[in-house]
Amino acid sequence: MSASSAAAAVVNRLKFEGSDAFHKTVKARVEGYFRATGRKPRDCWQMYLKTAIIFGWAISSYLLLVFATSHWWQAIPLAISLGFSMAAIGFNIQHDGGHKAYSDKPWINKIMAMSLDLLGGSSYVWDHKHNTLHHTYANIHEHDDDIEVGFFGRLAPDQKWRRFHRLQHIYLWALYGLLPVKWQLFDDFHSIARGKIGNYQFSRPKGWNLLVFLGGKLQFYFLAFGLPLLFHKWYLVLGLYLLACWVMGIMLSIVFQLAHVVEEAEFPLPNEVGKIETHWAVHQVQTTVDFARKNPVLCWFLGGLNFQIEHHLFPRICHIHYPRISKLVEETCREFGIQYHAHKSFFAGVASHFRWLRTMGQPAPATA
Ligand SMILES: [Zn+2]
Repeated sequence: MSASSAAAAVVNRLKFEGSDAFHKTVKARVEGYFRATGRKPRDCWQMYLKTAIIFGWAISSYLLLVFATSHWWQAIPLAISLGFSMAAIGFNIQHDGGHKAYSDKPWINKIMAMSLDLLGGSSYVWDHKHNTLHHTYANIHEHDDDIEVGFFGRLAPDQKWRRFHRLQHIYLWALYGLLPVKWQLFDDFHSIARGKIGNYQFSRPKGWNLLVFLGGKLQFYFLAFGLPLLFHKWYLVLGLYLLACWVMGIMLSIVFQLAHVVEEAEFPLPNEVGKIETHWAVHQVQTTVDFARKNPVLCWFLGGLNFQIEHHLFPRICHIHYPRISKLVEETCREFGIQYHAHKSFFAGVASHFRWLRTMGQPAPATA
């Protein structure tokens, strides 16, 4: 067995132990909620309306930016608006579609998931990175690729410390904004060329999936660079591309970090025999933190990602149900003695992430 397949086997072997009583109870209560209210977990009209509004927002921002701007003071707000609308596509449409939480019809989920290809990312790579790795092994070092930001940052206690991490709570925020540029231009190609994400091996896309991957990248480069270059100078196109992507990257990264990389989240490790000593569902609650649950604007814009505990327990339920489900989840956690963490506001979460980065920027003791 080669070193790489050995590493992949380690990932695949990692198992969870512990009682499933909490999971069974919370699942039964959420199923009871759908039975009692007659609501559908997927195919909700609110989602279809939301999709139309967000696509309308993104398309109008893009068209105005490319075809109707002649001054910097018009271009900058439009690029920022485009960045926010792209983040909204990711949070709401792509994420629900990618989790098969949008519809009961697989082809609708697939189309919604492919909105990531429209934004320059690969829905194929995301499916492996996010659904398989992050949602199974949340916050487990060397298993959850989402907590690996590479050389520049130390987000978990078991990651390697470097001297300049002392300042990561200051500089990482700016680098978060560059993450979309990295996956649009480099990461997806790199993952597919290696056939691996971190230590996890996955099969390279073939046939239709390969076509979507290559077609998606080409259409993104055409929309981001090819078409605008016909009408504007190259440095304006490049600058506004970076600004729109930076806004999207900051939003996507911060929302992820507030859910998992804060003081209240745990970073468990497997024991000597390669097992996590809690049940999978308990692990999801312990490694995840909600925020701003009563903020209606954020609840709409973030696609339920301020309710990540609920999302991690019920990834196949459309996010518009999370605010109601969260009451059942919180109650059940209390009954089972499992800590349920939620920051009251977005800024309380940001402050906690800042403090966690500062703590992880110190060499020792590296305690969770
Ligand atoms: Zn997810």
